[in-house]
Amino acid sequence: MKYIIGNWKMNLGVRESVALARASLLLLRGKKIAPQMVLCPSTIALSEVRKVVARSGVGLGAQNVAVEDQGAFTGEISARMLSEVGVTHVIIGHSERRHLFGETDELINGKIQKALEYNLIPILCVGETQEERENGQAKKVVTHQIVTALKNVRPKFSETFFIAYEPVWAIGTGETPTTQEIVEMHTHIQSVLGEIFPTAPSSAFAILYGGSVNGENAYAFLRESCVDGLLVGGASVKIHQLKDIVEAACKVLIAQA
Ligand code: PEP
Repeated sequence: MKYIIGNWKMNLGVRESVALARASLLLLRGKKIAPQMVLCPSTIALSEVRKVVARSGVGLGAQNVAVEDQGAFTGEISARMLSEVGVTHVIIGHSERRHLFGETDELINGKIQKALEYNLIPILCVGETQEERENGQAKKVVTHQIVTALKNVRPKFSETFFIAYEPVWAIGTGETPTTQEIVEMHTHIQSVLGEIFPTAPSSAFAILYGGSVNGENAYAFLRESCVDGLLVGGASVKIHQLKDIVEAACKVLIAQA
């Protein structure tokens, strides 16, 4: 399987989200072999987008979740609330949350545990900064992020748990690592996960790439067997780009069938 997850960030209101969700679903219509899609609108649009994706097989993702269950946490949204409106997935530890909102690996660990408690599928984002990459620290940083985020986490191996490798310097910049660099990092992530969860079945984790994915580069990334899918930001709100990305995924899946 290949996964295409769209992170719409804080870009669309409710009506625009509903329209984009409808258009995104149309891209899959009539396709016998197609990627699994998950749409992640802003919190305010989750309920309405759920009505569009209901019974379509397309997942509904939130972009964040509170670490607490409930209480005096103004502005936060709990895992129970997300689950109540039909959310299936949740992005945790996105670089914008880490860097703009000060989220630590320890907080991210708590959020993952909370998501799993409410049967939400986590999409854990990891990735190095430009400086860390230049200092040759990329693998060390990503290892630390994964090990800390997954401390004491016991995923249900019946559901796929997502890890998105998103180098910070590639997000929204138009720059990407080479395909070879992505393959190297994904292979590294596989081995880190293998050490943490030695008995996990191979289907337990899906490793996605994210960072300036577009209609032109998607095929080269998806063609790699260690790239289980893509976490797409900017291009996921541009329907023509998303169309090309979905078609790239279909082409890869058909070639593998
Ligand atoms: C993201 O926000 O997760 C992302 C990958 O953004 P972009 O595709 O715009 O680089």
